[in-house]
Parts: sequence; structure tokens; C-alpha cells
Amino acid sequence: MALKERLRTWKRLFWLLILFALGLLGLYLYGLPVIRHLEVLIPMGVCPSARMALLRDNFTGLLHPWARPEVLTCTSWGAPIIWDGTFDPAVAQREALQQNLTIALTVFAVGRYLEKYLARFLETAEQHFMVGQRVVYYVFTERPDAVPRVALAPGRLLRVERVARERRWQDVSMQRMHTLHEALGGRLGREARFVFCMDVDQYFHGAFGPEALAESVAQLHSWHYRWPRWLLPYERDARSAAALAPGEGDFYYHAAVFGGSVAALRGLTAHCAQGQRRDRELGLEARWHDESHLNKFFWLHKPAKVLSPEFCWSPDIGSRAEIRRPRLLWAPKEYALLRD
Ligand code: UDP
Ligand code: MN
Repeated sequence: MALKERLRTWKRLFWLLILFALGLLGLYLYGLPVIRHLEVLIPMGVCPSARMALLRDNFTGLLHPWARPEVLTCTSWGAPIIWDGTFDPAVAQREALQQNLTIALTVFAVGRYLEKYLARFLETAEQHFMVGQRVVYYVFTERPDAVPRVALAPGRLLRVERVARERRWQDVSMQRMHTLHEALGGRLGREARFVFCMDVDQYFHGAFGPEALAESVAQLHSWHYRWPRWLLPYERDARSAAALAPGEGDFYYHAAVFGGSVAALRGLTAHCAQGQRRDRELGLEARWHDESHLNKFFWLHKPAKVLSPEFCWSPDIGSRAEIRRPRLLWAPKEYALLRD
């Protein structure tokens, strides 16, 4: 009997070890682009044709989701997922001009992120971001004098706002929600109709136009858009304000790009800043900082529009047929150099 019992224990241990080794092997192989590429075989789901027929964009009118049968073009709550080929950029451009919009683009460049990324971010934004529209950039930094002078096209202007420098990079990242909330309640909020909030460690590579605008806009994370939901890196500690329970969550959104109307973003930034404050009081910090809180917000308040990973692509993933024309590309991360 005792022998049988011991045998069973060994057997269990053996299988656990095998599982562990397979897990390690999986992690290792995931580092290889060829293996990672197999991800495209994971189904994304399909947009039901009845819903497809109704998909509209607030600027282009009816969308053409059937132009991209290989990817998911709508969400379960009926929001469009904007992929290249599903909209007519010229129509969006005309419509936005008719509405005489001012579109704001906010970006933070604190510490060494300023020298490393800001010039390229702004220069490429001039080439690709809402070209032909009225645009106001808001750069938040602790060193306004160091902001590079970038030649701006007519109808575009740049404002620099001074912020205090947080000691930890996590705090710089999280503090953005509070700062944006205040700014949206001030001149930024009065000046702009729509606002995009972005990370600085990326650059524009293709046209990022009014087809991206909506009441609230979330960005599919390029590393996670094909992963099954249970694998997504949401905050799981139930004590955190950002926590999602198993079975919760629609997509994993990237905090490097989000946008919407001033009112919607006032709500979003208030929610995230408050969640972060609550966590801090409990001695907690969500797994991916502001991004975890953003994901919680979009779970509770579904975005009106979702941008495909084409809008913010990581070249490290390698090229994929379904990523036709990346609009933003991640710049190389050099954390050792940038973060203290
Ligand atoms: N950031 C900054 N200085 C810092 C840390 C962060 O300006 O010391 C800003 C910057 O805009 C950056 C964003 O906060 O793009 C988010 O941080 P990071 O890009 O390092 O986070 P990741 O994208 O790697 O998660
Ligand atoms: Mn970033």
C-alpha cells in the first residue's frame, strides 16, 4: 500500500516536471520569431455578417469589414475594429475638415526620454498624424527649455507644460493620468474636440488620420491581440482597483495609445488616477501600472472604437501579412539607459 502511494507521488512529480519543462521550452521558443509567427493560427473570432452590415464609422459612414476577412473587425458590443482597407481615408479626411475639428495629441517626455524619443515622435507626427487637420501638441516635461524646435505646418501648434519629475519611472508613467485629467479640465479641454494620448517611445510610420477618432478609442496591444483571454496580463490581485476576475476582459489594450472626446477622457483619467491612488493607499501597484487601470476602465466602459494593431505595431514581432501598413512603430526600448 505504502509502495503504491509512493509510486503515485513519484508519478505526479514526474508529470509536473514534464509540464514545467514544456512550459520553459514554450517560453524559450516564444523568443524565436518563427515560433511566435505561429500565433497567427490562433483564431481571433469573426464579426457576424449581420453586425458587419451595420458597422459604421463616425467619419466615414459605412465601413467595409468584409475587405479583411482574415481578422476580427468588430467587437461583441458592436464597435468597429479599424483595419487598413475597411475605411476610406479620403472620406474621413473630408468629414473631419467639415466639422472643423481641433485634435490634440498629448505626450510625456520626462528625464532621458526627452532626448531619446521626443524629436522623432514630433517630426514623424508632422508627417503622418492628422495631416491637414488643426492639431495642437501638448508636451509634458520637467524641462521645457530642452523641448526640440520642430517645424510645424500651418494650423498646428505645440504647447509645453511643465510637470514635476517623479523619482520612479513607474510613477512618471502613472502620474500621467492625474496630469492629463487636470489638463483636460483646463486649456487643453477647451481647445480640443478630440484628444489622443500617447507614449513617446514610438514614431509615426504611416497615415494616422481622422478614421481613428471616436468618442472613446482603445488600441489593441500588438503583442497580445491573438492571445486567448486567460493568458492576457491583466492585474489579477483582487485587492487592486485594476483587478479583472477570471473570465473578465475583452481584449488587452495598449496604454501607449488611447483617445476620445474631452468628456470621455476626463472620465477615463479620473477613473485610472483614482484607482492608482486607492492602490497606493493599500500599498499595491498594479502589474502594468496605468495600463492595468486602463484595461479595467475599458472593461467597464467599452470603447466606441478599437484600433487594430496596425495602428501601433512592434517591429520586434516581425512582419505579418495581416499588418499591412503600420501607422506607429515602437522605438527600440533601452531601459538600462532610460530608467534609473
Ligand atoms: N515616461 C517618461 N519618462 C520616464 C518614464 C516614462 O517620459 O522616466 C513616459 C514616456 O512618454 C513613456 C511613457 O511614460 O513613453 C510610458 O513609459 P514606457 O514607455 O517606458 O513604458 P512601456 O511602454 O515600456 O511599458
Ligand atoms: Mn512605451
